[in-house]
Parts: sequence; structure tokens; C-alpha cells
Amino acid sequence: MIDIVILGTGAMTPLPNRHLSSMILRHNGRQILVDCGEGTQVAIREYGYGIKSIDGIAITHFHGDHFFGLPGLLHSLEQAGRTEPVWVAGPEGLEEMMERILAMTRDLHFQVKLRREDHFESNGLVIETFPLTHRIASQGYKFTLTRPGKFLPEKATDLGIPLELWSRLQAGETVGEFSPEMVMGPQREGITVVYATDTRPSETIVRASEGADLLIMDGTYPDNNKAEHAVKYGHMTFPEAANLAKEARVKEAWLTHFSHSIEDPDESLEAARKIFENIHLSYDGKMKTLGFA
Ligand SMILES: [Zn+2]
Ligand SMILES: [Zn+2]
Repeated sequence: MIDIVILGTGAMTPLPNRHLSSMILRHNGRQILVDCGEGTQVAIREYGYGIKSIDGIAITHFHGDHFFGLPGLLHSLEQAGRTEPVWVAGPEGLEEMMERILAMTRDLHFQVKLRREDHFESNGLVIETFPLTHRIASQGYKFTLTRPGKFLPEKATDLGIPLELWSRLQAGETVGEFSPEMVMGPQREGITVVYATDTRPSETIVRASEGADLLIMDGTYPDNNKAEHAVKYGHMTFPEAANLAKEARVKEAWLTHFSHSIEDPDESLEAARKIFENIHLSYDGKMKTLGFA
């Protein structure tokens, strides 16, 4: 099971009623934070589950609205007596940026591990990154909770595997000459959540989010009147995002990262719905629990 909490949906600067775009993804009692703009800590306290169970922070890119909250958050973790390591993932430039941030936060009593890989695991979730198309280096994230195949007792019996080893094999452990693959059916469909902002639409996003359970993406501008702005600043309009969701055949899509000029994003949603029916607006505090099919 994965719980999603949208902490904020704004672009550029935080507003009294709209935090900057970020999200919490929770699995097995632990959390991953995606982006951390100014004020994200406040949003976590408002809608999240606190900061203590954060294992890692996935930064999409180094525009202030996506990471200016990071020194403050690390400082708060220190204040909370953190000793376990925290990972921070980000695109090109991560090392330099973190050097500056860690110079601000000074001596932390926990390790900050930098992650530049395009594939790693955290607390049972597989995390993949993929490039976005923005004005600076930017990356999207794909979170997958895999689901092992069914245990096949008849196979275990045929192979003469002692009963007391079954549960260990089922849990993925290799015991002596017996490996889990010998007694497990094919892997079943897992849960996939993709986060892609700030960006223009791209084939890369379509491929990364193919069939995803939930795609959360850049919806900076409501309609195509702002198409030029979207191109110029490296963002998407609602219809562009809807087309992307349709092309990727995702199960559900949410828009986020709304421009200040959008007072009521609802007004422009209808046009996007005509392109892709299951597209919705994010709002601060929006939650969803995704379970296995
Ligand atoms: Zn932004
Ligand atoms: Zn940006």
C-alpha cells in the first residue's frame, strides 16, 4: 500500500492558501518527501505525518520553489534528534548544491547520503529517475512497489522442499539449494506513482509513466492561451498534460504546480477532461491510498 499526500500545489512563491508544490509518499510507516520549497515543513505539519519518519527527499530541480525549504528541514531533523541517515536525490548539480546547504546547516548528527543513481531502493520501494524538459536540469521520479508472485505449494512439494523452509522462501530468502524463484509464480502487477514537474511534455515522461496508477504532473497554465508561456518557461498547460496522460495510458492523472494567475483551476479542467477523462486537480492536503489491484 502507498499513501500519497499532496502538501502543496503552488508555483514560484508560497501563498497564504497555497503551499509550494510537494508531495509525501508513505509506505510501511516511512515517508519519502518529493520537493521541499519554502514552507514545506509547515505543510508537512498541516497535512503530513511529521518529519521523523522521512527516509529521503527527492528533489526535482534546483529552482527555489522546489528546494529552498531543505536547509530548514534538515535543521529541524537535527533538532528532533535524528541519528539515522537521510538520503537526498536530485539532478545534475546535486553535489554542489548540497555542499552549500550543508555549510548552512553545519554539523548534523546524521548522515546525508546523496543519490544521483537513476535507479535505487528505499524502504521496499523502487525509485527510478528520468530527465524532464525544463529550463535547467530537472528530473522526474517513478516510485514502484513491486508485488511478488504467488507461492506455489505444489511446486515446493514436487521438489521435496521441507515444510519448515516454505515461509522463508516465500519471504524472498534463498535457503541452501532452494531459491524463491523455484516456488514462486510470476511477479504480479505492483503499484506505480510518477511525479513530473517542472517540465514540458516529452516522450520520456510518456515512457516512464506508461500505465502508471497515478501520474502527478506539471499543470502550471490552465489553458492554451498561455501556450507560449508554457514553452518559454518550460511548463505545461492543462490540455498538454491531459494529452500526455492519455498517451501514457495512465490510470489516473493529477495536475499540480499552479501559476499564481490561476485563482480557480476548476474552470479550466473541463477542457482537459475532454482529452483525458480521469484527470483531476491536486489541492493542498489531497490524499489517496493506492493498494494492489
Ligand atoms: Zn517550480
Ligand atoms: Zn522550475
